[in-house]
Amino acid sequence: MKHPYYTMNDLMHEHYGMKIRKICIDGGFTCPNRDGTCGTGGCTFCGERGAGEQLNPAKTIREQAEAVLSRAPADSRWIVYFQNFTNTYAPVPVLRERYDAALFDDRVKVLDIGTRPDCITPEIADLLAEYAQRYEVWTELGLQTASDRTAKAINRGCDLQCFEDAVGLLRSRGLPVIVHIILGLPHETLDDIKYTVSVLNRLRVDGVKIHSLFIMKNTQLAKQYENGEFTPISMQTYIDWAIWTLTHLRPETVIHRLTGNCLRDQLLAPDWITQRDLILYTIDRRMYENGWKQGCFCEEA
Ligand code: SF4
Repeated sequence: MKHPYYTMNDLMHEHYGMKIRKICIDGGFTCPNRDGTCGTGGCTFCGERGAGEQLNPAKTIREQAEAVLSRAPADSRWIVYFQNFTNTYAPVPVLRERYDAALFDDRVKVLDIGTRPDCITPEIADLLAEYAQRYEVWTELGLQTASDRTAKAINRGCDLQCFEDAVGLLRSRGLPVIVHIILGLPHETLDDIKYTVSVLNRLRVDGVKIHSLFIMKNTQLAKQYENGEFTPISMQTYIDWAIWTLTHLRPETVIHRLTGNCLRDQLLAPDWITQRDLILYTIDRRMYENGWKQGCFCEEA
């Protein structure tokens, strides 16, 4: 059944006539919010591997890509996704060398870079624009929330203006922007989510990755949770808020993800985030039953 929202698969079918999958790469980067450049300790929810717990940093970038491509059909197409930590946090020649190391096979069509807004400079935007002459280039910015109050509380280390500046730099080079947001951050309500969605709509971001807050072991967030400082939202609340988000985002915004993903042995709470299929099915069913689709309540569409 087709989802009542515009998925990455829809986009890839439009561009390549087929499903196109990701090769997740550990590019050997760190993060300025961990090494003291802009902060220490990192975002409170961030695990020790910077969202790359399933990756193998012992392999070179080329080996990581080859491990997938050597077994892939000749007619398949691929996205290489520099996933964990901050994948523009290095001088331009180093970035070029690391990106090139993953781009040795003609079946790779998309270069996808996960990073922080404060690590997009004009020089880096120029570099990404250079790659965009040969590949689709996606830049994924971790926003999580448009609320500067929450951003401070989660130790994000950059404010909304910094994010808007990064979007402007990328846009000025014609580069699409994908934004990560989290529903259920400590003490956020639906009003905070409404504000975040209004900012994404105003900036006309190209894509969004949405997931619910989950608490990984050995994080700052785990300490706050164990001290009883906040309670995670329920699955029902997540489904309600995700549907609100989908129905109010612009219809052309691509939904790249709608659930979180955490290795089970590293998940502290809530347990329900592992029920990915049930969450997606319930969102689809509720939207279809009500005749809702993405953007149906978006006043800016
Ligand atoms: S910016 Fe990303 S890698 Fe850095 S601490 Fe925050 S979530 Fe982790």
